[in-house]
Amino acid sequence: MNSTYHGSCLCNKVTFRVNGFSAQAANCHCTMCQKFHGSAFGTLVGVVGLNWNSGFECLKHYTAPNGTIRTFCQECGSSLGFRVKNAPLEEIELAIATFNDDIPVKIDAQIFTNYRANWCALQPDLPIFNEGRK
Ligand SMILES: [Zn+2]
Ligand SMILES: [Zn+2]
Repeated sequence: MNSTYHGSCLCNKVTFRVNGFSAQAANCHCTMCQKFHGSAFGTLVGVVGLNWNSGFECLKHYTAPNGTIRTFCQECGSSLGFRVKNAPLEEIELAIATFNDDIPVKIDAQIFTNYRANWCALQPDLPIFNEGRK
């Protein structure tokens, strides 16, 4: 199977493509995801065969106090990705909502729910992890 999935930031300066995805993807309710994505939770997915098609020079990288690195478009502010501390850009997990089309990924968990915003209900059909995935 050889598929290509395209994504972009809001202003479309940053565009990318990947060939596949990690097996797992979770809705992360941690406070950093809330702030970074400006929403109740962030959903990031590991990718295979990432290529930046355009806008590489627009990528801006913010290192949080805990060392994790978050990447966004400095033109439009779109939240694009996440890396663990000291990870190279190649290991970025991408914000799942930046893909243009349907992708073969199923959210299978809700993590860091200890920090959930009180105005957002959890999904009853998905496993809940108070902190990270065990
Ligand atoms: Zn942009
Ligand atoms: Zn998070």
